[in-house]
Amino acid sequence: MHAVIQRLQDLLGSAGVLFEKEDLAPFLTDWRGIFSGSALAVALPKTTEQVAKVVKLCGELKVKIVPQGGNTGLCGGATPEGDNAQIILSLKRLNQIREMDLENQTITVEAGCILQTVQEKVQASGAFFPLSLAAQGSCTIGGNLATNAGGVNVLRYGNTRDICVGIEAVLANGEIYSQLKGLRKDNTGYDLKNLLIGSEGTLGIITAGVFKIFPAPLGHYAALVAINELPEMIALLQDLQRLAGNELCAFEMMSRESLALTMEHFPQYQRPIFLTGQYTLLIELANFDQDQDQALHRIQDILESTLEGYLENGRILDAAIATSQAQVNEFWGIRHHITLAQAKEPGNIKFDISFAISKIAGFIASTDRLLSEQFPGLQIINFGHLGDGNLHYNFCAPRGAEASYIQEHEERITQIVFAQIQLFGGSISAEHGIGQLKREYLLEHRGSVAYQMMRNIKKALDPENLFNPNKLLLL
Ligand SMILES: Cc1cc2nc3c(=O)[nH]c(=O)nc-3n(C[C@H](O)[C@H](O)[C@H](O)COP(=O)(O)OP(=O)(O)OC[C@H]3O[C@@H](n4cnc5c(N)ncnc54)[C@H](O)[C@@H]3O)c2cc1C
Repeated sequence: MHAVIQRLQDLLGSAGVLFEKEDLAPFLTDWRGIFSGSALAVALPKTTEQVAKVVKLCGELKVKIVPQGGNTGLCGGATPEGDNAQIILSLKRLNQIREMDLENQTITVEAGCILQTVQEKVQASGAFFPLSLAAQGSCTIGGNLATNAGGVNVLRYGNTRDICVGIEAVLANGEIYSQLKGLRKDNTGYDLKNLLIGSEGTLGIITAGVFKIFPAPLGHYAALVAINELPEMIALLQDLQRLAGNELCAFEMMSRESLALTMEHFPQYQRPIFLTGQYTLLIELANFDQDQDQALHRIQDILESTLEGYLENGRILDAAIATSQAQVNEFWGIRHHITLAQAKEPGNIKFDISFAISKIAGFIASTDRLLSEQFPGLQIINFGHLGDGNLHYNFCAPRGAEASYIQEHEERITQIVFAQIQLFGGSISAEHGIGQLKREYLLEHRGSVAYQMMRNIKKALDPENLFNPNKLLLL
């Protein structure tokens, strides 16, 4: 038995350390099943002080640490590599809600809290926690912070970093950095909170965060819109933003191929509108006005009259407006099942990318064409948060292709997509991060000046490369 296991047991008790092969297994492979590794043990501390002790111990024994929350990340950032010289530090048991301050409109939660638990706790108080994504039943607040998760409400509320007003983390020397005052303004030097957010476990172990909470929407109104042309989608986005301001909460785009695949795997979502146009939009507006009747009419009017105008001019092909909250939820059901449908395919390639909204139509038209010419039949599973300029530009093998198709062509497809991202001035990672998946591309994408700045920061905060080695950056 490695010395670290006995020492961890001394710190955390036997329930706080896993080291048997079958207990380790669920922690060693990522959600997509494309990365796997090995670990000496999984440490499960219950308090920030225990996390600090684990970090000090690992520093002393020179054992590397891979932080892990719900293990739903899509870039292999929480999966150890194969050299069996690391432990996984799971934050799952550090999961208390420390405080809800309704006057300050904030909630302080520990890193291991499941996102959906936080949403429900806030909802029970009559307020609203806006971070929402399909993995919310298993992802954790620490993982959301470490990846700066986006999700479906970014249009109105921003990414995780935009709703976070305080953070607590354990640094590589075992010290605890704590800034949990819940301040909305704090210009006292470098923004250390935002350095830790999105650092993917490479700069510190996040143990807690303070988040803004918001007035709960009094109603949601959603529409599905069948449409062919990307420029028309962007015109519709702009019209709704002009008319509804930030009552427009979501503007999601789903290609016909992505919906066909989802209906195939989840037949309960079959609806003719999904095959009517080249794309289907899912648009959601929310009402925050106390005068329910007036607000209902105003928002319905904006949505209905805008869509009617587009329909009359042939700019959209069809539209369906939800008439109940159950229908709004049903609309979101198919959107959230696209990722799950793709996971059922034998092989897939995923790109989580972003552009200035003005560049998206050009990128899709030219990249779709290039790929269809070079890879006939390739299924382009394109969907995403169009309102944020964020595409999940994914691929599955052509129907009936050999099982090895994706593996054979992944490198060339990646080269083409990344060259196109460069050409259209986009980002190779919009909301999922870098992890192991994209680390080889970061230097070229961000350029040597930015990359060297990141390396300097890493070396200053974690000189022994204790935290999540070889993730995000290659030193
Ligand atoms: C079905 C599905 C849908 C998704 N939809 C979205 C979406 O819409 N938008 C979006 O942004 N993402 C989405 N994701 C990916 C997203 O990044 C994660 O779901 C979530 O944010 C990660 O949380 P987690 O607790 O599972 O983190 P993990 O997967 O456990 O870890 C992710 C990274 O954070 C690090 N980490 C975890 N906890 C800590 C901590 N406490 N301190 C320091 N580092 C830590 C890990 O080392 C790793 O690098 C989706 C994933 C799935 C499976």
